[in-house]
Amino acid sequence: MSELATHPDNLDALEARLRQDLAWLELPAKAWVPAREVDGQPVTDVVIIGGGMAGLVASGMLKRLGVANHVVLDKAIAGREGPWATFARMRTLRSPKQLTGPAMGLPALTFRAYYEARFGRDAWDALERAPRETWMEYLIWYRKVLELPVRNGVTVDAILPREDGMLDLLCSQGDAKETVICRHVVLATGRDGLGGPYVPDIAEHIDRKFWAHTADEIDFGALRGKRVGVIGAGASAMDNAASALEAGAARLDMFVRRKALPRINKFTGIGSQGVVHGFAGLPDEWKWRFLNYAMGQQTPPPRPSVLRVSSFEQAHLHLESPIGGLRQEDDHVVVTTRRASYPVDFLIFGTGFKIDLSNRPELAALEPCIRFWRDRFPTPAGMANAELEGSPDLGEAFEFREREPGSCPALAKIHCFNFPATLSHGKLTGDIPAISEGADRLARGIVRSLFVADRERHFANLQAFDTPELLGDEWADDNTEALPELSSERT
Ligand SMILES: Cc1cc2nc3c(=O)[nH]c(=O)nc-3n(C[C@H](O)[C@H](O)[C@H](O)COP(=O)(O)OP(=O)(O)OC[C@H]3O[C@@H](n4cnc5c(N)ncnc54)[C@H](O)[C@@H]3O)c2cc1C
Repeated sequence: MSELATHPDNLDALEARLRQDLAWLELPAKAWVPAREVDGQPVTDVVIIGGGMAGLVASGMLKRLGVANHVVLDKAIAGREGPWATFARMRTLRSPKQLTGPAMGLPALTFRAYYEARFGRDAWDALERAPRETWMEYLIWYRKVLELPVRNGVTVDAILPREDGMLDLLCSQGDAKETVICRHVVLATGRDGLGGPYVPDIAEHIDRKFWAHTADEIDFGALRGKRVGVIGAGASAMDNAASALEAGAARLDMFVRRKALPRINKFTGIGSQGVVHGFAGLPDEWKWRFLNYAMGQQTPPPRPSVLRVSSFEQAHLHLESPIGGLRQEDDHVVVTTRRASYPVDFLIFGTGFKIDLSNRPELAALEPCIRFWRDRFPTPAGMANAELEGSPDLGEAFEFREREPGSCPALAKIHCFNFPATLSHGKLTGDIPAISEGADRLARGIVRSLFVADRERHFANLQAFDTPELLGDEWADDNTEALPELSSERT
């Protein structure tokens, strides 16, 4: 086989190869879910909220399994979904370039195939990690080649259970409002999908003009010549510190609670198909033990991100320096730690995200009914962990469950396909490595639920099906004489 045939060297050739692969696999499967209408309005079988990576893969998997009547809604404009082109400030992805993440097992849909088709095999070999912008371009291409049904600029404001067992989604697009009726909802709403950025209370009394969270829009140009403080030393804290320094910050102080930066990425280190498929089968105590340990060890920031900061001599790292006090003074803020006080002109919180449903208007009507781990599972001795305690306690297809049985059956149709699913399902949401496996589990669960719910229609179809395989002319009985009728029913 020629080199050209195995390595499409432009996107047109790659797309042709992908079409061929899909055709050979008979994909997507034929649509099979019976159409429904209520109140004279068509019902959408599945609405996916969020058109970032997870929403796109979920859509790809549903399409592949013949759930054609679904839609992805994202409040962002096309090409600005998720963090990559908005608040992510690293130069390259944090994960290795070889991850096949969203590819759904299709070689021609991998990031590598995309990158080689655009830039060539040598460029791939020379590449260290995927450039952030190129990763976003890949996701845009992914959506295009799979012809995924995404509507941009649409915000889901509320999810309301209906008496007929379906769900009303109240949506807005600018000033226009619409209600989408659907049977299942997938929350592919991102890292903060059940909450929002976490900022310690201590920031509350400080004027907002003096600080930002790493997930905020930040005018780094305005930090030129300024003293900048960064709280935290995770990947995003490092990337924001680097962005401030590269923009010309006069001094950068990074405040870290720990004695040392974490060095070992524990959970990634034991990554395997065993963890991907096995985690969900662990007894609850073991799920807790794995995640509580991994969280306690913390994820190190990538080495290139740290070097990007430490290469500036005006960057100062303060270990064992939790913030003891924060006070506003004229045109700046003073950060006090156990070691000293530091005046800064601007402070960036790299303090991560929290689960807090009061931050998510779309879930307000459901929030009182949703069961969290703390509602069912007693925290093991010596392993208190607020984040785990506040994780949703999900079913096999990532569906929410009721705190009080019978209080909100609609929760079984709402699937939490974002980072907080980790305690129930393992790392199948929220980052790149196993997102296809997660979407596969999700889509199969939805397929099962739709089929079971429509069993009467499918049974009627079974009875009504009358296309003959045999036409009756294939083979005739040797005996031509008719026998008297048998008295028994057995033949
Ligand atoms: C800065 C940063 C860097 C990361 N780097 C890596 C990395 O290198 N490797 C890795 O494996 N993982 C990384 N991750 C983790 C993970 O891969 C990303 O968070 C990824 O974007 C998750 O995809 P998602 O689809 O779950 O969420 P997102 O990409 O955040 O998409 C969620 C979408 O939901 C939409 N949305 C939310 N609410 C609504 C609503 N009510 N109505 C309509 N739309 C809504 C948003 O507009 C958004 O587009 C990173 C995360 C961050 C924050």
